[in-house]
Amino acid sequence: EPVTQSLLYLDNISVVFDGFRALNKLSLTIEEAEMRAIIGPNGAGKTTMMDVITGKTRPTAGEAMFAGIHDLTTMDEADIAQLGIGRKFQTPTVFDMHTVEDNLLLAVKSDRRAFANITWRRTAHERARIDELLERIRLKDQRHRQAAELSHGQKQWLEIGMLLAQEPRLLLVDEPAAGMTDQETADTAELLRDIAKTRSVVVVEHDMQFVRDLGVKVTVLHEGSVLAEGSLDQVSANERVIEVYLGR
Ligand code: ADP
Repeated sequence: EPVTQSLLYLDNISVVFDGFRALNKLSLTIEEAEMRAIIGPNGAGKTTMMDVITGKTRPTAGEAMFAGIHDLTTMDEADIAQLGIGRKFQTPTVFDMHTVEDNLLLAVKSDRRAFANITWRRTAHERARIDELLERIRLKDQRHRQAAELSHGQKQWLEIGMLLAQEPRLLLVDEPAAGMTDQETADTAELLRDIAKTRSVVVVEHDMQFVRDLGVKVTVLHEGSVLAEGSLDQVSANERVIEVYLGR
């Protein structure tokens, strides 16, 4: 098994919908324990790229490999999730009527047994996992509250915790800071930086202050391909990026 390869390797991926190229020879690599921010104007192909990685959309052409050995272009969504690719959509899908810790318990158990067979009894190992996750997502003090009572930001963190319960190797996150207060936005950047110490994270984001807080390498998409890559300062100074964003 190759050990030096990128965790995610996209090479010349194209996606064509009814003659329209949503992705046009997109190439991108993400390393183990790397966090990457993906930016780009509306319609640039960011969502389509996430859809290809998670198996929701099949590319028309190109190669998509995970951990050097898994060909994502031939796998279905469930099998790709099993590989350890987790995706967080913008709208949190937590169980509102359950407490914070029960939400985490469901997530911890759901990788091992059918949902219908879940019991609320928890093993020592499961309790320890829940404590660890609560610590990580900074919701220890909220553990007995109903998810419905959480702030928007706290719900987003709970959902991130539920995804972490599945031990993903790659976490895809869609606009995590949308609708958050400034403090929540800063806390979210810190949380994601913490997560990226041990796993890879791809963040699609519009909020440039948040991208700055993340402090990671940025990939700019435009018309389905990579327009620029580098630090936020580097890509912000790139003439072609300026043109695209200012529409000149
Ligand atoms: P972004 O997330 O960067 O805003 P998207 O990946 O959502 O961009 O969309 C890229 C382009 O592909 C857009 O012009 C969009 O209208 C088009 N597109 C996305 N999904 C479909 C689809 N299922 N059928 C047709 N066109 C689509």
